[in-house]
Amino acid sequence: MLALQKVRPAKGVEFREIGVPEALAPRDVLVRVHSAGICGTDLHIAEWTPGYESMERAMPVTLGHEFAGTIERVGEALSETIIGTRVTARPSTTCGRCDACLRGDEDNCTARKGIGIGRNGAFAGFVCVPYDNCHTLPDSLDMDVAALTEPMTVCAEAVATAEVQPGQTILVIGPGFIGQGIAIMARAIGAKVVVIGRDDGPRLDALRAAGFEQLIDTAKTDIASALADLAPFDAIIEAAGVPALVSATLPYLKKRGIFTVVGIHPRPAEIDLTSVVRMHQQIRGSYRAPAADWDGVIAFLDANQPLMRQLISHTLPLSDALTGFQAAQDRVASKVVLRMGEP
Ligand SMILES: [Zn+2]
Ligand SMILES: [Zn+2]
Repeated sequence: MLALQKVRPAKGVEFREIGVPEALAPRDVLVRVHSAGICGTDLHIAEWTPGYESMERAMPVTLGHEFAGTIERVGEALSETIIGTRVTARPSTTCGRCDACLRGDEDNCTARKGIGIGRNGAFAGFVCVPYDNCHTLPDSLDMDVAALTEPMTVCAEAVATAEVQPGQTILVIGPGFIGQGIAIMARAIGAKVVVIGRDDGPRLDALRAAGFEQLIDTAKTDIASALADLAPFDAIIEAAGVPALVSATLPYLKKRGIFTVVGIHPRPAEIDLTSVVRMHQQIRGSYRAPAADWDGVIAFLDANQPLMRQLISHTLPLSDALTGFQAAQDRVASKVVLRMGEP
């Protein structure tokens, strides 16, 4: 089967012809992939930005960790009755052997392996994953939309970390897919949402089409004057990974407000901590959502399919993946979804 792989610790990704996995671990399932999304992480891996050095041990490794498909085969410890089940999967697999895992504290597993990072992922016709990482999809949920589950759990976790409440005014920094998903989740709670981007015309247009009105492109408007009219914000959620935007927006957070960081930053941000102290504010990080939140996010996607489908700007066959990577890199794409079944 065709697979999009990271082959060496340098810039680039490669298409390679690999075998469909034969032997499965006892609790693993082989999933026939239908749809798989391209994520910012995949772009970082392709560009080989620092922070992914540990992948070298797994190379050549198939990328792709946001996916939906159908169980095709099962390991010997599993019942064949689950064959044909439509699933998505949590990409972070735990080892089951470290001290934390043996204590039942899997969230602190010290030997996690990411599907599509530390073990083969879903940019291929089939992917082998632990069944315990799988979540069943409702029949009514479209596979392309189901492939958005993992990034939307990141968004749901960010909104929970920010303690977004009905009636609040929230600033979201960065209109990429994660920023878009955060805006949607915060609005669903009943918050008023403002989103800022820079040279992000197509992504802000996607948000406008999704019904958002308070959208600021800082390439066209001065950030200070634009925010001064809308501030203070009850919470600010940062999903751009631009350190300068942390210090530029913090003055618009209200007293006791929460600033949540979701973006991966290439360098430290400089912030006025004395102001944070006097304003009694909190700065929080938000990353992976707990497993218990996944089914709720799947239900949200199922209930909001037309809206979520709008955020898929490109659907391409796997063989056109590099076109999708470029569109995401150029920030014209909101979310690119690859379809494995298409030539
Ligand atoms: Zn991702
Ligand atoms: Zn472990």
